[in-house]
Amino acid sequence: MKTRVGIGYDSHRFAEGDGVLLGGVRIPAPFKLVGHSDGDAVAHALTDAILGGAGVGDIGEMFPDSDPANKGRDSIEMLHLALHRVRAAGWSPVQVDVSVICERPKVGPYRDEMRASLAKALGIETGAVMVKGKTNEKLGWIGKEKGLAVIAVATLESL
Ligand code: MG
Repeated sequence: MKTRVGIGYDSHRFAEGDGVLLGGVRIPAPFKLVGHSDGDAVAHALTDAILGGAGVGDIGEMFPDSDPANKGRDSIEMLHLALHRVRAAGWSPVQVDVSVICERPKVGPYRDEMRASLAKALGIETGAVMVKGKTNEKLGWIGKEKGLAVIAVATLESL
């Protein structure tokens, strides 16, 4: 059996709104994430991590924002479609780890729901999915609460 690691990164700006979607879970907030799709930066970073690990492209190439079909698109569905591509290439994610970097919202209270949502999308055990919240110590654009960033790592094994 072969093992690979993929990494993904994403960031989205905040705008006035009524909540954010992260890892398929809606978190109430006085703002939203601006994006061509539904703005789910956790799903986007994970999508890039599994595509990268399998060596089969990236989210921008698979779901270009020039395609009207991707406007407002469900990012968990995008993650699922990426999983199909990864599996078709002979790879399967077995473990993923995610860091959400933001001053707000606090992701801790939603961690378990996000883990379950992502585990379901990836077809792996909840225990193999971790989501961690992290502030940027008030530094830079994240510290000024202009948006958030996500880093995701995925371990893949050959099928
Ligand atoms: Mg994105």
